[in-house]
Amino acid sequence: MTATVPSATLLGVEGRPVSVEVHIGNGLPSFTMVGLPDAACRESRDRVKAAFASTGLDFPKTRVTVNLAPSGVRKAGSGLDLPIAVAVLAAQGRVDPHMVAGCGFVGELGLDGAVRAVPGVLSLVDAIAERAVVVPAACAAEASLVDRVEVRAVSSLRQVLAALRGVEPWPRPTDRAAPAAPADPLDLADVRGQPLGHWAVEISAAGGHHLLLIGPPGAGKTMLASRIAGVLPPLTRGDALETTRIHSAGGLALPPGGLVTRPPFRAPHHTSSVASLIGGGSAALRPGEVSYATNGVLFLDELGEFPRSALDTLRQPLEDGQIRVFRARHAVSLPARFLLVAAMNPCPCGLAGGLACRCSDAERTRYERRVSGPLLDRFDLRVTVSRPDVAELLGDLRPDPSSVVAARVVAARAMAGERGVRCNAELSAAALDRVARLTADARRLVEHRLRSGRLSARGLVRVRRVARTIADLAMDDRGVVDEGPIAAALELRADAATLESV
Ligand SMILES: [Zn+2]
Repeated sequence: MTATVPSATLLGVEGRPVSVEVHIGNGLPSFTMVGLPDAACRESRDRVKAAFASTGLDFPKTRVTVNLAPSGVRKAGSGLDLPIAVAVLAAQGRVDPHMVAGCGFVGELGLDGAVRAVPGVLSLVDAIAERAVVVPAACAAEASLVDRVEVRAVSSLRQVLAALRGVEPWPRPTDRAAPAAPADPLDLADVRGQPLGHWAVEISAAGGHHLLLIGPPGAGKTMLASRIAGVLPPLTRGDALETTRIHSAGGLALPPGGLVTRPPFRAPHHTSSVASLIGGGSAALRPGEVSYATNGVLFLDELGEFPRSALDTLRQPLEDGQIRVFRARHAVSLPARFLLVAAMNPCPCGLAGGLACRCSDAERTRYERRVSGPLLDRFDLRVTVSRPDVAELLGDLRPDPSSVVAARVVAARAMAGERGVRCNAELSAAALDRVARLTADARRLVEHRLRSGRLSARGLVRVRRVARTIADLAMDDRGVVDEGPIAAALELRADAATLESV
């Protein structure tokens, strides 16, 4: 007897449809699996057999052949356990093929017959063309994000069997209502005495401008940076689904309700491996931090401590918004589109030429060179923050709370939206000529810098984008920018003279 059950497998963060064909023939007991299963997938044999035994089912004592089609696609992970088990049941004649028709299956089997969660359910369910899909109960909310399918959530093979025999109805996912995402506990109002830092964070969030904070330890760089995701607008439905797919494929915990609705904030440590940063891995292909940060913030604290090789890999995602990861014989492209925020000390000791700084000129130069010119050039905003003085810390001046800043950010992004971009960082040079023409005074200001070589043509484009954002935040949406925003944008590229590669 032969039976076929639809399912899917993950390739990167995308699902690919897979047809699970089981043939039970005469001959000595054997269990063969063909069609490019990876190691985890091949172990399916043992899990399916054990789950049958635990559920009180006899596994065929003859020749069992499983073919996973199409044969050209590598089948990864354990999500094919359940469809294999169901196909065996159908081939044995234990369940009516009509009950299986029109239904896809995804799930790992425990030795006790439990149906367990697998990574990437959103993408897997999306890849299955059937109108109904049986998924692990733990993944029901996530699977329900695919609107067109009827989700049947199960927690054991016994339950699946009962439903396929018509003894019990399919269990339905219980609660689809997602609780509101809790407010970010980190508030900008908690960071005192850094007016320039606050301003830079707001401009960065409003315009999607990559931000580098330079300053001594204790200046509050990390506190500022970790609050930036909290002032970004909530994700659109499309962006939320994209980020959820990536997090799910990597096995990250999803929020209740299954959908990631807030921009992610990822802060890999400088000792992280390149694979964990960009993705890959020997057994299963997992997305890296650059992908997890998609539609949110990638924060690199102590930028100067990251190995040069790790930083160089950031160039491609910063350029294309995606990263190509190579594994075995093929390459997979993963989304990697994020706001880059980084912090670094001005020198190895962090005191940058102050009285207590003991770093030699050579040491300082070597430190600055750790971060390559092309990467530094990617930061539209390079802001020096110093330790706040006592008067500022104790003063009555309260910075705006995150909720107030977030409202201004939303307004600025709406203005960018009218220009046909998500944020001003995406404005092309041609678009800038329409929406950020320079007044005569503004022109004089940049002319001087361009002539002296302190500003490159590429740098000028970045300055104009930032100036556009500064004007937007001031609710000035005329198509010109005058010297005020331009002077501020130049100011916010501080240290350009020392750090910029010429
Ligand atoms: Zn020093």
